[in-house]
Amino acid sequence: MSGNRVASTVHAPLTYITGIGERVCAKLAKLGLHTIEDILYHLPLRYEDHRHIVSISQLRPGESALFCGRIVSSGEVGSRRGRTIYEVIIADDSGRIMLKWFHYRRDWMEKNYRSGLQVLGTGEVKQFGGRREIIHPEIEFFCGSEPPARQLAIVPVYPLTEGVSQRQMRKFCQTAAQLYSRLVVSHLPDEIAARQQLMALNEALLRVHCPPDDSDITILATNRDPARRTLIFDELFYLQLGLALRRKGVALQQGTAFAVNHVYTRPLVKMLPFQLTAAQKRVLTEIKTDMMAPRPMNRLLQGDVGSGKTIVALLAALIAIENHAQAAVVAPTEILAEQHFAQFEMWLQRLGLRAALLTGSTTTAERTQMLVALADGEIHLLVGTHAVLQDDVQFKRLGLGIIDEQHRFGVQQRNALRKKGDNPDILVMTATPIPRTLSLTVYGDLALSVIDELPAGRSPIKTRVIDNRKRPELIKFIRRELDRGRQGYAVYPLVEESDKSDLTAASAALETLRAELGGSYRLELLHGRMASREKEAIMQRFKAHDIDLLVATTVVEVGIDVPNATLMVIEHAERFGLAQLHQLRGRVGRGSAQSFCILVHSEQCGRDGRQRLQVIENSSDGFVIAEADLRQRGPGEFLGTRQAGMATFRVADILRDAHLLEQARKEAFAFIDQADIFHDAAYTELRHALMVRWGQRLELASVG
Ligand code: ADP
Ligand code: MG
Repeated sequence: MSGNRVASTVHAPLTYITGIGERVCAKLAKLGLHTIEDILYHLPLRYEDHRHIVSISQLRPGESALFCGRIVSSGEVGSRRGRTIYEVIIADDSGRIMLKWFHYRRDWMEKNYRSGLQVLGTGEVKQFGGRREIIHPEIEFFCGSEPPARQLAIVPVYPLTEGVSQRQMRKFCQTAAQLYSRLVVSHLPDEIAARQQLMALNEALLRVHCPPDDSDITILATNRDPARRTLIFDELFYLQLGLALRRKGVALQQGTAFAVNHVYTRPLVKMLPFQLTAAQKRVLTEIKTDMMAPRPMNRLLQGDVGSGKTIVALLAALIAIENHAQAAVVAPTEILAEQHFAQFEMWLQRLGLRAALLTGSTTTAERTQMLVALADGEIHLLVGTHAVLQDDVQFKRLGLGIIDEQHRFGVQQRNALRKKGDNPDILVMTATPIPRTLSLTVYGDLALSVIDELPAGRSPIKTRVIDNRKRPELIKFIRRELDRGRQGYAVYPLVEESDKSDLTAASAALETLRAELGGSYRLELLHGRMASREKEAIMQRFKAHDIDLLVATTVVEVGIDVPNATLMVIEHAERFGLAQLHQLRGRVGRGSAQSFCILVHSEQCGRDGRQRLQVIENSSDGFVIAEADLRQRGPGEFLGTRQAGMATFRVADILRDAHLLEQARKEAFAFIDQADIFHDAAYTELRHALMVRWGQRLELASVG
């Protein structure tokens, strides 16, 4: 239709490519392919070696090859299940092989597949019983002794969508590469491209779609292939450039240089019933150093569950407060905000300071009063949910913003909090350890502090994976623990956050457990649909040991801290992510008594599912578990949708390409150190490319 027009930019729609009309366009859209650029970056999954014709006796099961032969016989046969199959046997001098079709038009097959004709074909060889066969091969007929030469090449194999064949997709991608790859320019600084031995971007794009005959087919689909490596590096470099700019942008701003005068921090440390661990002291020094510097802090605090991040956050808040500034703590859920508040308020009261809690459930009257007190500076520490980020929440002088983030906030929230003050210090805490590759992408603009040590005296939690068929033993075990005066949690997977069925499932579970346990155990339900007052009341009763077993949906995942709770039972454990299971387990083992975590999987849970759960049984190291979780679920799922955007790449895969990520990061950070890409005209195009790719996702406009 528009096939013979020529596009002048890669942002033109796909209909510029021969063979792509509106109908095909709609199908390609399902793969996220809308523009010529999209299809240029639609990379082959693998390559097939069709440079040489393989003789039939040499066709190996599992391999895809180009073969050639003469039709010996052909015809329809009935299968055992009553369906029909079309079978064709071909032969060359070396042997014979069966070709099979399950979907075909009989009259067409009979007319074309006649004995004696020569065919050239490709397809994957399968072993079926003692026999090799090829199902649904791609076939061309030819006359004479020489097969058509154009087939002899390395052939890319692409991800497909319904209604677009491999042959069509290959044609679209190769046409696009041949006509339009020349329009793609990287603008990567020359010296970096040279040092990293990168090709020109246009050449790389052409080569991945139309690899030259002398390519090394064993590495063609990997990041060791020079063309693919170029594309991956290019993509990762721009992200790291954006992150480096963000870091530098913040670093260049004027912040407040706090003094550590110990007015509140020293009394607090004296009041604590324990000594800080060496790791806590180390990260506190890192935080203090940042807070004392005249530029804003922008730091990520990572630590495994139970490593004692809260006390570190509190001490940081006190540094701001002893400098006559305020602090804010933002948590992802009401229940966590409430829990933080309860802890912070207790300590602050003892120091004669005032804390307040602001969430969606705060009444209008309370809120109005609170905002006045906050603007007057009477409230020293504000704890809350994202309600804290609303426009009319004004501080007198916000010195430190803490985000306890659980993967639920992103760059936007950090910026919103930063705008509440005059370049306040920002501390982001994550309760789930994050593998390095991911923290370099999602948190790549933050400095990193890690608490890599648990407080002494904790006995490791005993973890067991059991089949639901062993339920009677489980029930006995729960009774034994409760009879000893211990408490526990029984956690059920959330069906869907807004779904009534979640509540139904949890209530049903409660009743079942009650019946199973018998006796006079006090069971209570805690679920996400409860009003936060109700939740809080239940948590208070649990802390006071008026409840023995808390039956809950995943709301207990976040920071709940009840030392007498020593038992964590997780039902349908196979439905949880590993990092989440580790978080849940971290709810017990907080006192000195032996704690237990029992992962109950359903009878249908397969071997893979059980092996996955075994990771939790075998390791108590959050970083090991996070790494395994990331490998199993991929970055998008691991992070949750909010931040997934930051880990979404067209060609890079941060797990596979970890070493390229490190190199891209080194280059980008070094480059930003010495180049002023905002003012130096030499970098106009580089800056433009950066803005197009990451400007929005990284909110770079606010950095320049
Ligand atoms: P998390 O890092 O999971 O947020 P918390 O800050 O909730 O961990 O701390 C877990 C528990 O350990 C809390 O009860 C806290 O009071 C306690 N704790 C924190 N630091 C220490 C320490 N240095 N020694 C002993 N207990 C500590
Ligand atoms: Mg915590």
